[in-house]
Amino acid sequence: MVHYTKSLLVLTLIMLSNSRAAHHHHDHNRCLSAALSHAEQHCTEAGVRLTPIRRAVLELIWQSHRPLGAYAVVEQLPSILGRPIRPPSVYRAIDFLLEMGLIHRLPSYNAFIGCPFPGSEHSDVFMVCRCCGSAAEVSAETLNKSLEDTASRAGFQLETQNIELSGLCASCQQEDSSS
Ligand SMILES: [Zn+2]
Ligand SMILES: [Zn+2]
Ligand SMILES: [Zn+2]
Repeated sequence: MVHYTKSLLVLTLIMLSNSRAAHHHHDHNRCLSAALSHAEQHCTEAGVRLTPIRRAVLELIWQSHRPLGAYAVVEQLPSILGRPIRPPSVYRAIDFLLEMGLIHRLPSYNAFIGCPFPGSEHSDVFMVCRCCGSAAEVSAETLNKSLEDTASRAGFQLETQNIELSGLCASCQQEDSSS
């Protein structure tokens, strides 16, 4: 019994998610400034530079909780930077942010989303709202373990995962029921 309570506690402690912010009405400026300061810190620790271009691309991708495609980044970046920029430089900045785990790519949308907890344990599970398009990220150690176990029982060596869950976010559920 004691053991049962304990494992429940662990379960709640190790789940990370930004669904509260991504799927509810909130002050998004706080998300943006938190993301930028996380990124600065993450890069400093790794001994790499968050150059103005990399920072601007990150800022663009974090402009909302909806995944943003590379084409949109290329198109909107010059107005943020205040000067023209060639697409290859934009793609290099995107690659850098992906490598650093500051953004993720959602394969079926072919678009990018900012990571709310870079450097933490990851599950690469994204809850995408089919109504407003907002994507929240969730990470749970138990989920990773269960996927690893399942794959290994099937004789498969799991290396990467990228899971997109589709449904209705909290805000859209409310609008759904009030209409
Ligand atoms: Zn936000
Ligand atoms: Zn992440
Ligand atoms: Zn929604």
